[in-house]
Amino acid sequence: MASRKLLLLPGDGIGPEAMAEVTKLITVMNAEFGAGFETEAGLVGGAAYDAHGEAISDADMERALSADAVLFGAVGGPKWDDVPYEVRPEAGLLRLRKEMELFANLRPAICYPALAESSSLRKDVVEGLDILIVRELTGGVYFGEPKEIIDLGNGQKRGIDTQVYDTFEIERISGVAFELARTRQSKVCSMEKHNVMKSGVLWKEVVAETHKAKYSDVELTHMLADAGGMQLVRWPKQFDVIVTDNLFGDMLSDVAAMLTGSLGMLPSASLGAPDPKTGSRKALYEPVHGSAPDIAGKGIANPIAMIASFAMCLRYSFNMVAEADRLEKAISDVLDEGYRTGDIMSEGMREVSTSAMGDAVVEKFRALSA
Ligand code: NAD
Repeated sequence: MASRKLLLLPGDGIGPEAMAEVTKLITVMNAEFGAGFETEAGLVGGAAYDAHGEAISDADMERALSADAVLFGAVGGPKWDDVPYEVRPEAGLLRLRKEMELFANLRPAICYPALAESSSLRKDVVEGLDILIVRELTGGVYFGEPKEIIDLGNGQKRGIDTQVYDTFEIERISGVAFELARTRQSKVCSMEKHNVMKSGVLWKEVVAETHKAKYSDVELTHMLADAGGMQLVRWPKQFDVIVTDNLFGDMLSDVAAMLTGSLGMLPSASLGAPDPKTGSRKALYEPVHGSAPDIAGKGIANPIAMIASFAMCLRYSFNMVAEADRLEKAISDVLDEGYRTGDIMSEGMREVSTSAMGDAVVEKFRALSA
Protein backbone atom coordinates (compact mmCIF):
# COMPACT_ATOMS: atom_id res chain seq x y z
CA MET A 1 0.00 0.00 0.00
CA ALA A 2 1.24 3.51 -0.77
CA SER A 3 2.49 5.38 2.25
CA ARG A 4 0.58 8.35 3.55
CA LYS A 5 2.84 11.29 4.24
CA LEU A 6 1.83 13.57 7.09
CA LEU A 7 3.66 16.65 8.30
CA LEU A 8 2.93 17.50 11.93
CA LEU A 9 3.34 21.14 12.92
CA PRO A 10 2.31 21.32 16.59
CA GLY A 11 3.30 24.98 17.06
CA ASP A 12 2.95 26.75 20.39
CA GLY A 13 0.99 26.72 23.65
CA ILE A 14 -1.52 23.87 23.77
CA GLY A 15 -0.71 22.95 20.15
CA PRO A 16 1.88 20.29 21.10
CA GLU A 17 -0.34 18.91 23.90
CA ALA A 18 -3.27 18.45 21.53
CA MET A 19 -1.06 17.06 18.76
CA ALA A 20 0.34 14.42 21.15
CA GLU A 21 -3.15 12.89 21.34
CA VAL A 22 -3.30 12.61 17.55
CA THR A 23 0.09 10.94 17.42
CA LYS A 24 -1.25 8.28 19.82
CA LEU A 25 -3.98 7.56 17.31
CA ILE A 26 -1.56 7.45 14.39
CA THR A 27 0.64 4.98 16.28
CA VAL A 28 -2.32 2.69 16.93
CA MET A 29 -3.62 2.98 13.35
CA ASN A 30 -0.20 2.09 11.98
CA ALA A 31 0.55 -0.75 14.41
CA GLU A 32 -2.87 -2.38 14.54
CA PHE A 33 -4.60 -1.44 11.30
CA GLY A 34 -1.70 -1.09 8.84
CA ALA A 35 -2.62 2.51 8.03
CA GLY A 36 0.86 3.26 6.68
CA PHE A 37 1.17 6.84 7.92
CA GLU A 38 4.67 8.27 7.64
CA THR A 39 5.00 11.29 9.88
CA GLU A 40 7.54 14.04 10.03
CA ALA A 41 7.46 16.86 12.58
CA GLY A 42 8.37 20.48 11.97
CA LEU A 43 8.29 23.82 13.72
CA VAL A 44 5.89 26.70 13.18
CA GLY A 45 5.04 29.95 14.93
CA GLY A 46 6.92 31.02 18.03
CA ALA A 47 8.66 27.64 18.23
CA ALA A 48 10.10 28.18 14.73
CA TYR A 49 11.03 31.76 15.58
CA ASP A 50 12.97 30.60 18.64
CA ALA A 51 14.83 27.99 16.58
CA HIS A 52 15.35 29.79 13.25
CA GLY A 53 14.29 33.43 13.65
CA GLU A 54 11.34 32.97 11.26
CA ALA A 55 7.75 31.77 11.60
CA ILE A 56 8.40 28.72 9.42
CA SER A 57 11.69 27.67 7.85
CA ASP A 58 12.07 27.08 4.10
CA ALA A 59 12.86 23.43 4.86
CA ASP A 60 9.59 22.93 6.75
CA MET A 61 7.72 24.82 4.03
CA GLU A 62 9.18 22.35 1.49
CA ARG A 63 8.06 19.44 3.66
CA ALA A 64 4.57 20.93 3.83
CA LEU A 65 4.42 21.23 0.05
CA SER A 66 5.49 17.64 -0.49
CA ALA A 67 3.34 16.04 2.24
CA ASP A 68 -0.05 14.49 1.46
CA ALA A 69 -1.48 16.52 4.34
CA VAL A 70 -0.36 18.88 7.07
CA LEU A 71 -1.67 18.72 10.64
CA PHE A 72 -1.32 22.07 12.35
CA GLY A 73 -1.71 22.75 16.09
CA ALA A 74 -1.81 26.43 17.02
CA VAL A 75 0.59 29.36 17.07
CA GLY A 76 1.25 32.45 19.15
CA GLY A 77 1.49 33.61 22.72
CA PRO A 78 2.65 36.55 24.82
CA LYS A 79 6.30 35.46 24.56
CA TRP A 80 6.32 36.55 20.90
CA ASP A 81 4.16 39.68 21.16
CA ASP A 82 7.09 41.95 20.35
CA VAL A 83 8.84 40.04 17.55
CA PRO A 84 9.05 41.85 14.18
CA TYR A 85 5.75 41.82 12.23
CA GLU A 86 7.05 39.71 9.29
CA VAL A 87 8.16 36.90 11.58
CA ARG A 88 5.26 36.98 14.07
CA PRO A 89 3.85 33.48 14.77
CA GLU A 90 0.74 33.94 12.57
CA ALA A 91 3.02 34.63 9.58
CA GLY A 92 3.85 30.90 9.56
CA LEU A 93 0.21 29.95 9.05
CA LEU A 94 -0.33 32.66 6.44
CA ARG A 95 2.73 31.47 4.50
CA LEU A 96 1.46 27.89 4.56
CA ARG A 97 -1.99 28.98 3.31
CA LYS A 98 -0.47 31.13 0.58
CA GLU A 99 2.21 28.76 -0.75
CA MET A 100 -0.05 25.71 -0.55
CA GLU A 101 -2.78 27.81 -2.26
CA LEU A 102 -5.42 26.73 0.23
CA PHE A 103 -8.46 28.54 -1.12
CA ALA A 104 -11.23 26.50 0.50
CA ASN A 105 -11.77 26.58 4.25
CA LEU A 106 -14.12 23.94 5.62
CA ARG A 107 -15.63 24.48 9.04
CA PRO A 108 -18.13 21.86 10.20
CA ALA A 109 -20.51 22.78 13.01
CA ILE A 110 -21.60 19.54 14.61
CA CYS A 111 -23.54 19.47 17.83
CA TYR A 112 -22.80 16.29 19.73
CA PRO A 113 -25.96 15.18 21.55
CA ALA A 114 -24.08 15.05 24.86
CA LEU A 115 -23.22 18.75 24.57
CA ALA A 116 -26.56 20.08 23.29
CA GLU A 117 -27.28 21.52 26.75
CA SER A 118 -24.16 23.69 26.67
CA SER A 119 -25.11 25.64 23.54
CA SER A 120 -26.39 29.18 23.99
CA LEU A 121 -29.42 28.14 21.91
CA ARG A 122 -32.28 25.87 22.92
CA LYS A 123 -31.48 22.16 22.88
CA ASP A 124 -34.10 21.34 20.22
CA VAL A 125 -32.60 23.98 17.90
CA VAL A 126 -29.08 22.54 17.98
CA GLU A 127 -29.30 18.87 18.96
CA GLY A 128 -28.04 16.71 16.09
CA LEU A 129 -26.89 19.76 14.10
CA ASP A 130 -24.42 18.91 11.33
CA ILE A 131 -23.64 21.70 8.90
CA LEU A 132 -20.55 22.59 6.90
CA ILE A 133 -19.45 26.11 6.06
CA VAL A 134 -17.24 26.39 3.00
CA ARG A 135 -15.46 29.75 3.09
CA GLU A 136 -13.36 31.20 0.26
CA LEU A 137 -10.00 31.83 1.91
CA THR A 138 -7.57 33.49 -0.47
CA GLY A 139 -9.57 36.26 -2.17
CA GLY A 140 -12.10 38.98 -1.44
CA VAL A 141 -11.77 42.04 0.71
CA TYR A 142 -8.91 40.73 2.87
CA PHE A 143 -6.59 40.65 -0.13
CA GLY A 144 -8.08 43.01 -2.78
CA GLU A 145 -6.11 46.08 -3.91
CA PRO A 146 -6.11 48.99 -3.31
CA LYS A 147 -5.85 48.39 0.41
CA GLU A 148 -4.61 51.49 2.16
CA ILE A 149 -5.20 54.51 4.33
CA ILE A 150 -4.72 57.74 2.43
CA ASP A 151 -4.41 61.27 3.75
CA LEU A 152 -7.02 63.50 2.12
CA GLY A 153 -5.05 66.60 3.09
CA ASN A 154 -8.01 68.29 4.80
CA GLY A 155 -7.51 66.76 8.21
CA GLN A 156 -9.35 63.63 7.08
CA LYS A 157 -8.01 60.21 6.18
CA ARG A 158 -9.67 57.50 4.09
CA GLY A 159 -9.41 53.77 4.78
CA ILE A 160 -9.86 51.61 1.71
CA ASP A 161 -10.33 47.88 1.27
CA THR A 162 -11.39 46.33 -2.00
CA GLN A 163 -13.79 43.44 -2.36
CA VAL A 164 -12.84 41.67 -5.56
CA TYR A 165 -13.67 38.24 -6.99
CA ASP A 166 -12.93 36.78 -10.41
CA THR A 167 -15.06 34.12 -12.08
CA PHE A 168 -12.50 31.30 -11.56
CA GLU A 169 -12.36 31.94 -7.82
CA ILE A 170 -16.12 31.63 -7.46
CA GLU A 171 -16.27 28.59 -9.75
CA ARG A 172 -13.63 26.67 -7.81
CA ILE A 173 -15.01 27.39 -4.33
CA SER A 174 -18.57 26.58 -5.36
CA GLY A 175 -17.29 23.39 -7.03
CA VAL A 176 -15.80 22.31 -3.68
CA ALA A 177 -19.11 23.04 -1.93
CA PHE A 178 -21.17 21.08 -4.49
CA GLU A 179 -18.80 18.11 -4.37
CA LEU A 180 -18.88 18.00 -0.58
CA ALA A 181 -22.67 18.32 -0.59
CA ARG A 182 -22.86 15.18 -2.71
CA THR A 183 -21.23 13.27 0.16
CA ARG A 184 -23.77 14.71 2.64
CA GLN A 185 -27.41 15.83 2.26
CA SER A 186 -26.87 17.21 -1.28
CA LYS A 187 -27.93 20.77 -0.38
CA VAL A 188 -25.94 23.97 -0.90
CA CYS A 189 -26.95 27.45 0.21
CA SER A 190 -24.84 30.23 -1.30
CA MET A 191 -24.63 33.47 0.70
CA GLU A 192 -23.65 36.92 -0.60
CA LYS A 193 -25.04 40.47 -0.75
CA HIS A 194 -26.12 40.88 -4.38
CA ASN A 195 -28.60 43.57 -3.31
CA VAL A 196 -25.78 46.03 -2.50
CA MET A 197 -22.52 44.60 -3.88
CA LYS A 198 -21.40 44.02 -7.48
CA SER A 199 -19.13 41.20 -6.33
CA GLY A 200 -22.29 39.67 -4.83
CA VAL A 201 -24.11 39.91 -8.19
CA LEU A 202 -21.23 38.09 -9.90
CA TRP A 203 -20.96 35.56 -7.05
CA LYS A 204 -24.63 34.60 -7.34
CA GLU A 205 -24.45 34.40 -11.14
CA VAL A 206 -21.31 32.23 -11.23
CA VAL A 207 -22.54 29.87 -8.50
CA ALA A 208 -25.79 29.40 -10.47
CA GLU A 209 -23.88 28.76 -13.72
CA THR A 210 -21.49 26.29 -12.05
CA HIS A 211 -24.49 24.50 -10.59
CA LYS A 212 -26.29 24.30 -13.91
CA ALA A 213 -23.20 23.12 -15.79
CA LYS A 214 -22.01 20.36 -13.48
CA TYR A 215 -23.95 19.90 -10.29
CA SER A 216 -27.66 20.13 -11.06
CA ASP A 217 -28.27 16.97 -8.97
CA VAL A 218 -27.48 19.06 -5.86
CA GLU A 219 -30.19 21.36 -4.46
CA LEU A 220 -29.02 25.01 -4.64
CA THR A 221 -30.53 27.98 -2.80
CA HIS A 222 -29.31 31.56 -2.47
CA MET A 223 -29.58 33.75 0.62
CA LEU A 224 -28.42 37.24 1.49
CA ALA A 225 -25.57 36.87 3.98
CA ASP A 226 -27.24 39.00 6.66
CA ALA A 227 -30.42 36.92 6.43
CA GLY A 228 -28.16 33.85 6.53
CA GLY A 229 -26.76 35.04 9.86
CA MET A 230 -30.29 35.30 11.23
CA GLN A 231 -31.33 31.90 9.91
CA LEU A 232 -28.20 30.32 11.42
CA VAL A 233 -29.34 31.25 14.90
CA ARG A 234 -33.07 30.81 14.22
CA TRP A 235 -33.12 27.30 12.72
CA PRO A 236 -29.61 26.13 11.75
CA LYS A 237 -30.75 22.61 10.88
CA GLN A 238 -32.28 23.94 7.63
CA PHE A 239 -28.72 24.04 6.21
CA ASP A 240 -26.40 21.33 4.93
CA VAL A 241 -23.50 23.09 3.14
CA ILE A 242 -23.16 26.88 3.11
CA VAL A 243 -20.76 28.44 0.61
CA THR A 244 -19.70 32.03 1.00
CA ASP A 245 -16.87 34.50 0.51
CA ASN A 246 -13.91 35.26 2.75
CA LEU A 247 -15.42 38.08 4.81
CA PHE A 248 -18.93 36.68 5.30
CA GLY A 249 -17.44 33.23 5.84
CA ASP A 250 -15.20 34.54 8.60
CA MET A 251 -18.22 35.80 10.52
CA LEU A 252 -20.79 33.15 9.65
CA SER A 253 -18.43 30.31 10.54
CA ASP A 254 -17.81 31.84 13.97
CA VAL A 255 -21.56 32.21 14.50
CA ALA A 256 -22.11 28.58 13.50
CA ALA A 257 -19.22 27.50 15.71
CA MET A 258 -20.76 28.91 18.83
CA LEU A 259 -23.98 26.97 18.24
CA THR A 260 -22.04 23.91 19.24
CA GLY A 261 -20.40 24.94 22.51
CA SER A 262 -16.67 25.21 23.17
CA LEU A 263 -13.78 26.32 21.00
CA GLY A 264 -12.02 23.17 22.14
CA MET A 265 -14.43 21.08 20.02
CA LEU A 266 -14.07 22.73 16.61
CA PRO A 267 -12.01 21.28 13.75
CA SER A 268 -11.27 22.79 10.33
CA ALA A 269 -9.71 21.93 7.01
CA SER A 270 -8.20 24.10 4.30
CA LEU A 271 -7.94 22.63 0.82
CA GLY A 272 -6.19 23.62 -2.40
CA ALA A 273 -6.91 22.75 -6.03
CA PRO A 274 -6.66 19.11 -7.14
CA ASP A 275 -3.33 18.15 -8.68
CA PRO A 276 -4.00 17.63 -12.41
CA LYS A 277 -1.98 14.38 -12.41
CA THR A 278 -2.94 12.72 -9.13
CA GLY A 279 -6.24 14.43 -8.35
CA SER A 280 -5.14 14.90 -4.74
CA ARG A 281 -5.44 18.28 -3.10
CA LYS A 282 -2.93 20.09 -0.88
CA ALA A 283 -4.52 20.23 2.53
CA LEU A 284 -3.99 21.55 6.03
CA TYR A 285 -6.06 20.51 9.04
CA GLU A 286 -6.19 22.54 12.24
CA PRO A 287 -8.37 23.17 15.25
CA VAL A 288 -10.21 26.50 15.20
CA HIS A 289 -8.84 27.49 18.63
CA GLY A 290 -5.56 29.28 19.25
CA SER A 291 -2.62 28.42 21.48
CA ALA A 292 -4.56 29.14 24.72
CA PRO A 293 -1.56 30.45 26.69
CA ASP A 294 -3.75 30.71 29.80
CA ILE A 295 -3.95 26.91 30.10
CA ALA A 296 -0.84 25.79 28.17
CA GLY A 297 1.39 23.29 29.96
CA LYS A 298 -1.27 22.35 32.51
CA GLY A 299 -2.45 19.20 30.74
CA ILE A 300 -6.09 20.35 30.77
CA ALA A 301 -6.65 21.46 27.14
CA ASN A 302 -9.42 19.76 25.20
CA PRO A 303 -7.78 17.69 22.42
CA ILE A 304 -11.07 16.97 20.59
CA ALA A 305 -10.78 19.85 18.09
CA MET A 306 -7.35 18.53 17.07
CA ILE A 307 -8.51 14.90 16.95
CA ALA A 308 -11.61 15.87 14.93
CA SER A 309 -9.31 17.78 12.54
CA PHE A 310 -7.44 14.51 12.03
CA ALA A 311 -10.79 12.82 11.30
CA MET A 312 -11.34 15.42 8.57
CA CYS A 313 -7.85 14.60 7.25
CA LEU A 314 -8.74 10.89 7.05
CA ARG A 315 -11.94 11.77 5.18
CA TYR A 316 -10.74 14.43 2.75
CA SER A 317 -7.05 13.66 2.12
CA PHE A 318 -7.00 9.87 2.35
CA ASN A 319 -10.58 8.92 1.52
CA MET A 320 -10.57 6.79 4.71
CA VAL A 321 -14.28 7.41 5.18
CA ALA A 322 -15.00 4.41 7.43
CA GLU A 323 -12.10 5.31 9.73
CA ALA A 324 -13.20 8.97 9.84
CA ASP A 325 -16.76 7.89 10.72
CA ARG A 326 -15.42 5.61 13.46
CA LEU A 327 -13.21 8.33 14.90
CA GLU A 328 -16.09 10.81 14.97
CA LYS A 329 -18.30 8.17 16.59
CA ALA A 330 -15.54 7.46 19.13
CA ILE A 331 -15.53 11.16 20.11
CA SER A 332 -19.31 11.20 20.39
CA ASP A 333 -19.40 7.98 22.48
CA VAL A 334 -16.70 9.20 24.86
CA LEU A 335 -18.74 12.37 25.45
CA ASP A 336 -21.88 10.25 25.97
CA GLU A 337 -19.97 8.34 28.64
CA GLY A 338 -19.40 11.57 30.53
CA TYR A 339 -15.74 12.32 29.79
CA ARG A 340 -15.17 16.08 29.89
CA THR A 341 -12.15 18.38 29.85
CA GLY A 342 -12.52 21.54 31.94
CA ASP A 343 -13.83 23.73 29.10
CA ILE A 344 -16.91 21.51 28.55
CA MET A 345 -17.34 20.30 32.13
CA SER A 346 -20.82 20.21 33.63
CA GLU A 347 -22.38 18.80 36.77
CA GLY A 348 -22.27 15.05 37.17
CA MET A 349 -19.67 14.52 34.44
CA ARG A 350 -16.14 13.14 34.82
CA GLU A 351 -13.42 15.82 34.47
CA VAL A 352 -10.32 14.42 32.79
CA SER A 353 -6.93 15.63 31.54
CA THR A 354 -5.93 16.18 27.92
CA SER A 355 -4.11 12.89 27.91
CA ALA A 356 -6.96 10.91 29.53
CA MET A 357 -9.43 12.31 26.99
CA GLY A 358 -7.06 11.30 24.18
CA ASP A 359 -6.64 7.81 25.65
CA ALA A 360 -10.41 7.40 25.96
CA VAL A 361 -10.94 8.33 22.30
CA VAL A 362 -8.14 6.00 21.15
CA GLU A 363 -9.57 3.11 23.18
CA LYS A 364 -13.07 3.73 21.84
CA PHE A 365 -11.74 3.95 18.27
CA ARG A 366 -9.97 0.63 18.80
CA ALA A 367 -13.12 -0.98 20.17
CA LEU A 368 -15.25 0.32 17.30
CA SER A 369 -12.69 -1.01 14.81
CA ALA A 370 -12.60 -4.51 16.29
P1 NAD B 1 -7.58 30.89 22.07
O1 NAD B 1 -8.42 30.12 21.15
O2 NAD B 1 -6.17 30.47 22.20
O3 NAD B 1 -8.24 30.86 23.54
C1 NAD B 1 -9.50 31.47 23.86
C2 NAD B 1 -10.04 30.85 25.14
O4 NAD B 1 -10.51 29.52 24.87
C3 NAD B 1 -8.99 30.70 26.24
O5 NAD B 1 -9.58 30.95 27.49
C4 NAD B 1 -8.54 29.28 26.13
O6 NAD B 1 -8.07 28.73 27.34
C5 NAD B 1 -9.81 28.57 25.65
N1 NAD B 1 -9.47 27.43 24.79
C6 NAD B 1 -9.05 27.47 23.51
N2 NAD B 1 -8.80 26.25 23.06
C7 NAD B 1 -9.06 25.40 24.06
C8 NAD B 1 -8.98 24.00 24.21
N3 NAD B 1 -8.58 23.18 23.21
N4 NAD B 1 -9.31 23.45 25.40
C9 NAD B 1 -9.73 24.22 26.41
N5 NAD B 1 -9.84 25.57 26.34
C10 NAD B 1 -9.50 26.15 25.17
O7 NAD B 1 -7.65 32.42 21.62
P2 NAD B 1 -6.89 33.71 22.21
O8 NAD B 1 -6.77 33.59 23.69
O9 NAD B 1 -7.58 34.86 21.60
O10 NAD B 1 -5.44 33.65 21.56
C11 NAD B 1 -4.30 33.08 22.21
C12 NAD B 1 -3.14 33.05 21.23
O11 NAD B 1 -3.47 32.17 20.14
C13 NAD B 1 -2.84 34.40 20.60
O12 NAD B 1 -1.43 34.51 20.46
C14 NAD B 1 -3.50 34.32 19.25
O13 NAD B 1 -2.88 35.16 18.30
C15 NAD B 1 -3.31 32.86 18.91
N6 NAD B 1 -4.28 32.30 17.95
C16 NAD B 1 -3.79 31.40 17.08
C17 NAD B 1 -4.64 30.78 16.19
C18 NAD B 1 -4.07 29.74 15.27
O14 NAD B 1 -2.98 29.26 15.51
N7 NAD B 1 -4.76 29.35 14.21
C19 NAD B 1 -6.02 31.05 16.19
C20 NAD B 1 -6.50 31.97 17.13
C21 NAD B 1 -5.62 32.59 18.02
